[in-house]
Formats: sequence, structure tokens, C-alpha cells
Amino acid sequence: MSTDYSRSVRLGGLAAGMKETTLRERMEGTLIHLTADGHLPAAGETLEVLVADLRRWPVRLSLDPGRGLGRLDDELIRRLVETATGIDPDRPLRVGEAQGKAPLHLHVGTAPPLGTTVAGAPDGHGVRLRHTGHPFPRLNAPGTGLGAVLTAAILAGEAFKVVAGLPEGKFQVIPVVDFCPVRPGEQPGIVVTPLPALEQVLLGGGGAIGTGIALVLDLLEAQGELTVVDMEVFEKPNVTSYSIGTLADAAAGLPKVRLIDAHLRRVEVTPFHGTIQASIEAVDAGTLPWPRIVLGGLDSVEARHDLQRLQVDLILDGSTGGPVGTTVALHEALPTGPCLRCFFKPNHTGKSAEQRLHEMTGLPLSRIARGQEPLTERDLEGLVDQQRELVGQFLGRPVCGLINSSELKGRTDDGFRPSAAFVAQQAACLVVGAWIARSTGLFGGPPRRIEYDTRFGPRPDQMIDHRLPTPGCACQKDAALINLIRETRRTRH
Ligand SMILES: [Zn+2]
Repeated sequence: MSTDYSRSVRLGGLAAGMKETTLRERMEGTLIHLTADGHLPAAGETLEVLVADLRRWPVRLSLDPGRGLGRLDDELIRRLVETATGIDPDRPLRVGEAQGKAPLHLHVGTAPPLGTTVAGAPDGHGVRLRHTGHPFPRLNAPGTGLGAVLTAAILAGEAFKVVAGLPEGKFQVIPVVDFCPVRPGEQPGIVVTPLPALEQVLLGGGGAIGTGIALVLDLLEAQGELTVVDMEVFEKPNVTSYSIGTLADAAAGLPKVRLIDAHLRRVEVTPFHGTIQASIEAVDAGTLPWPRIVLGGLDSVEARHDLQRLQVDLILDGSTGGPVGTTVALHEALPTGPCLRCFFKPNHTGKSAEQRLHEMTGLPLSRIARGQEPLTERDLEGLVDQQRELVGQFLGRPVCGLINSSELKGRTDDGFRPSAAFVAQQAACLVVGAWIARSTGLFGGPPRRIEYDTRFGPRPDQMIDHRLPTPGCACQKDAALINLIRETRRTRH
């Protein structure tokens, strides 16, 4: 069984606006070299996430363990090699000095060696990142697992821009990043509170964001109890787009809830292998605990509307999306509103399936009307690169088959596009950051929507807005009924 890079390359191609074959060639020709300061708190955790994120692309990877006091210890090196091998046994992490000319060089630490392209360091729960020529300030606090994941994800994002050749207008190098997902707008490392225990918390969705949340919780050494709900099985293409799981896990065909259970070593996990709807029925039947807080990592509007019907005190919903799948967001939803229905409107665009297929693929409506005729090379003429790449996968198949194809479906659900692991991890960090802020009383303000495009980085002064309930939404019209449902569940649990 060999590693399937199709998904990560497709997502990257979409983000960079380039042909998948071109991006794949660029990636295969790129060497990314890593160094780190072994003395930096959470350097090991940052490296583990970074190595995995980079291994999810078909690049070449090398790591220099360094010399002297800051040298990485052998146990860490062994784990990093194992992490890379778990994702792709055919592309091992090479340990030693960089080989070849001008590799892309990433450093974890605040004193990058000569030749570093970009360096990053966790500062408390946040990240500090600097491109060459921009010095680091003194760090405020030892890095945490949350800071480590965020640092690795943003470093991987900067690396992606270089690998993709920074297509003009698509990306922007961010020379300096200082960001804390617990208190966005404040300097990282200022907020240091004891971590809350997981109590009456449910994780809805074990996909790209859900596995990102599990990764953060594990590296934070979070303890307590967590119900995890997901209906799917971990498969081969997930290895290069999710935050946990190896090729061997995919071969075993584990349910995603089992994978997350196994990963959270200090948490008592109740896995629920089923739909959100089924989990609500189990809550009302008394067989599953009613949570007070939900961490959401779902990828469709319908599932979010189902999740809202759990009517918990607080939903912290993470999302990825935007025009090219690089936008991350957090929605804080309340049963009294704004609820997830206020945030996510159902898809009532009134467009036909044929119209949507036409917009997505560029195939003329007259061609789509001849639905039974298989697609040929001739159909690709007149399409732009991106569309040709997309439709090219379906040659020989009848056009009407595209309408319900799962490969296209992700692109039609209200702008949802699947995202790369390093993007989903940033959404997961927003969710976990909000969980820490809200459950320790660090932040008690009105519900927020926080959103930024990972291509341009977090901009605390312009990415947060407060939301009011939407007039006429179910949370307003049915307020009395929702209250009654909550009362009933409260007395039962
Ligand atoms: Zn609402």
C-alpha cells in the first residue's frame, strides 16, 4: 500500500491556482530542511506536527539534529522518523546536514541559523513567526501543545507558499506573525492559565478539523471525558489530509472515532460511531451523556443544523472554506442565538444541479443535457486549466454521473471545500483556544465569529466580529420549545 497524495496535491493546486501535475512536480523537486533549538519548550511537539504536515506532501524532507547543547535528543529524532514513515514509508525523513543547493529551510526556535527561510516558536498558547531578517522578541511563556500545533501549521503554510512558487495575487508572505488563539488581539504568551478539564464536552466530527482538535488536545495533555461522534471510517486519502492517522490505520479501516479514541491517551473517550442525529436520539434515550459544550468539526450545513439541535450551552464550531479552501473560521453558537442556523443558512440558491455543475466544471449546459454520453477529450477543449484538471478525472464516464459524484460533492455544499491539514489545524486551534477562554472565564463577551484566510495570516484587528441572533431564525421563533427541550435533557442527565 503506497501513500495517496492525490488529495493534498488537489487541495494545494486549488489554493495555488495551478495544475495538479505542475504542483506535484514542484513538490517532488523540493527539499525542505528542518532545524530546531532542542532547548526551546515544546520544540519537540512543534517538530512532530511540522514533520507530519510536510510529509503529507510529496516533498523531500531532511532534519539536522544540531550539535552541542541545543542538539535534539535521540528519542525525539526516533519519533520524528517514525512519524514520517507512518505517513509514507517510501519517503523517509533523512537525518543529517542539508544536501543540495538552497533548500527551503525551516527552523523551530528564536535564533535561526544562517540560511533559514522562516522560523517560528510557540509562545504560551500562541505563535511567533519570523522570516529572515526579522528578529524575535523575548518569549513571554513556555510553549504549550496549542502553541506548538499553531506554530507548526503556520510554518507549514509559509513553506507551502514557497513550494507553490507564490503565484502572484494568490498568496502573500507574512514576514511577522504574533498571534494567540485564546486571546486574539493580545500578545502571545500573556495568557497562561491552568488548562480546564474536559467535562461534558462532545466533539462533533472526526474529519480534518476534528482530528486537528484531537491533536491539539493530546499535545496540551488535556484530561477528562470526551464524547466523539462521527459516522465514517478512516481511509487512505485521509492520511495526507487529516492531522492524525497512519497508512497502517487506513489499511485497518478503523472508524474515525476509534482512531481519535486511541490518540487521546489521557482522555476518557466515549466513541459514538454514527450520525449527529443518531447521537441526539441516544442523548434523549439516556444512553449518551448530554454535553454542555460542543467542539464542532463538521463539514456540511446540514450536519451543523443537526448539531444545533443538541441545544447545548455553547457550540464552538470550526470551519474551513472560502473560494479556495484556505479560509478558517470559528463560530460561537448559543441555543438562544446566534445559533448555527443563524451562522449557516441552508442552501436555497434555487439553482438546478445542472446549473451548479455548469458553474463548477465549465461544461456547456447543452453538453450536460446529453447526460448519458461519456466524456471525451473533446469535452476538455475550451475549459480553463483548473476545470480541465477536474473534468479530466471523469473521462469515459457519462456526464450525468458527475452530478452525484462524491469527488465533486465537497465543492457544491455551500462553498465548503476540503482543506489541507495545516489549514484545518488552524481552525482547530481557534476552537480549542475559544474552549480555553470560555471555560476558564478568560473571555465572557458576546458570541464571536473569527475568520481569516490562511494565505494572508491572522489579522486580529480585522477578523473578529460579534454576532446577534438572526430575526426569524428557529432559535428566536421556537425559543420556548428550545428551553423546554433543554430543561428535559437537564433533568434526565
Ligand atoms: Zn438562530
